[in-house]
Amino acid sequence: MKEYDVVVIGAGPAGYVCAIRCAQLGMKVACIDEWVNSKGKSTLGGTCLNVGCIPSKALLDSSHHVHFLHEQAKEHGIKIGNLEIDVPTMQKRKDKVVQVLTGGVASLLKKNKVDVHIGTASFSSHNVVSVKNNSMGTSEEIRGEHIVIASGSIPIDIPIANVDQKTILDSTGALSLQNAPKRLGIIGAGVIGLEMGSVWKRLGSEVIILEAIAEFLPIADSTITKEAKKILTKQGLDIRLSSLVKDVSVSNDKVLVKYESGGEEKSLEVDKLIVAVGRKANTTSLNLELVNVETDEKGYVKTDEHWQTSVKNIYAIGDVIGGPMLAHKGSEEGIAVAELLDGQHAVMNHDNVPWVIYTWPEIAWAGKTEQECKESNIKYKVGTFPYMALGRARAMGDTEGMFKIISDEANDQILGVHILGAIASELISEAVVALESELSSEDLARTIHAHPSLAEGLHEAALAVDERAIHI
Ligand code: FAD
Ligand code: NAD
Repeated sequence: MKEYDVVVIGAGPAGYVCAIRCAQLGMKVACIDEWVNSKGKSTLGGTCLNVGCIPSKALLDSSHHVHFLHEQAKEHGIKIGNLEIDVPTMQKRKDKVVQVLTGGVASLLKKNKVDVHIGTASFSSHNVVSVKNNSMGTSEEIRGEHIVIASGSIPIDIPIANVDQKTILDSTGALSLQNAPKRLGIIGAGVIGLEMGSVWKRLGSEVIILEAIAEFLPIADSTITKEAKKILTKQGLDIRLSSLVKDVSVSNDKVLVKYESGGEEKSLEVDKLIVAVGRKANTTSLNLELVNVETDEKGYVKTDEHWQTSVKNIYAIGDVIGGPMLAHKGSEEGIAVAELLDGQHAVMNHDNVPWVIYTWPEIAWAGKTEQECKESNIKYKVGTFPYMALGRARAMGDTEGMFKIISDEANDQILGVHILGAIASELISEAVVALESELSSEDLARTIHAHPSLAEGLHEAALAVDERAIHI
């Protein structure tokens, strides 16, 4: 039996990063993954690279170009005749991006001398894992002094809407459509609903999003979400809050969705329906019960603050332990666990994990929302600044959105930063550094920002905390 210092189950952003960091620190490492792509080929990179972050951003970018050509090119003096959209080519480009990046993960693991085992892992004992590869008909057992579970997450399914990937789709099906459906329904106005809704709306679909709860994006700051909802609605996304889906049926390639809203029974006929109601831990084939690795009531693997499970030599990281289900959160946990196994002091501040929703304008934030400050009885100050007052935003023709900085009234320490606007995904990193370094809004206000740049919006919002913004 092959023996390793560390066996990592899962080669998504949590698992493969953990495996590489362990190898960098001189450990003998194995990484196991069972992913098989739509062409029947084993690939690494997990949800994020295969059917998550990367393919969704490839389609968001392609469809954003379409949006630009349709809506903005004219004012830049760019005239286009008949604009033709070739979705199959767009999909091929997306597949190529995925192929290059998943191949890159394989090369990185190889370069770092991590042994990759392809197949489904399940515990045989607390330090032995069996790896079964059904397509190759092989089975082996490997031993690890430490085992890291990084098995990720899968979409939550709702019994009333059976995903068949033809008419009723989950996010994976939504990323593979070969043409824009005439009428597209989406259940769930969360991150996936909004990103996939944006892609297909820009490519020509009429998009109706049914959201069960009354509030739009409750995890984000409410000043930002109010504005975001207005902008997205103006773009044509029909977002129906307080709309609880009761029944879904398919006939003659059409989907009939019955839902309840404001005490009334309503219905909607669409050509395709995307179910995007959240994700859950993926632990089905791990045989966790055998080794007494505990899970919580929602099925997430329970860990302490050092990512140790109820079994001493078994750790868990990434989506499978819950919290923000984000690639960068999983990767940082992977690095921290590797360094802990190396005997180092490793900590990670989950308070400052940045979130980005890649609609256009983008929505990005880190730290506390204003609602959270109120709930915790924190006294705070707020500074805001609109994109439309920025020279760079005007030059780009992207003037929608705003910056918002929340700081502690007592000592001015920045508590939260919220951005709605072009390239917010990039701008938020400055805010994360400020939060991690416990900077005050005064520190940001005294930091020189290049002109003309969108980052000047952060500078001005920091000045606005003390009511001294210049360009408004
Ligand atoms: P995963 O990426 O799910 O990887 C887990 C791996 O474990 C998989 O490869 C799986 O095959 C393997 N595995 C599971 N069980 C076994 C087993 N028993 N044996 C062997 N292998 C096993 N996050 C962002 O930060 N930014 C984004 O823009 C973003 N966009 C997204 C878009 C979509 C459509 C979706 C669905 C998700 C998106 N996410 C995004 C979330 C992101 O994909 C996840 O947070 C991230 O992939 C979690 O990483 P992970 O390593 O924990 O798990
Ligand atoms: P989500 O939790 O973001 O949103 C799900 C939405 O569905 C919620 O608003 C919820 O109220 C609603 N809902 C639940 N049940 C419903 C029902 N029966 N009828 C109508 N609405 C219902 O989940 P998601 O959009 O599926 O995404 C899953 C996770 O994947 C995200 O939370 C995020 O962690 C990750 N993700 C991240 C990114 C990114 O970072 N840009 C992109 C995509 C996905």
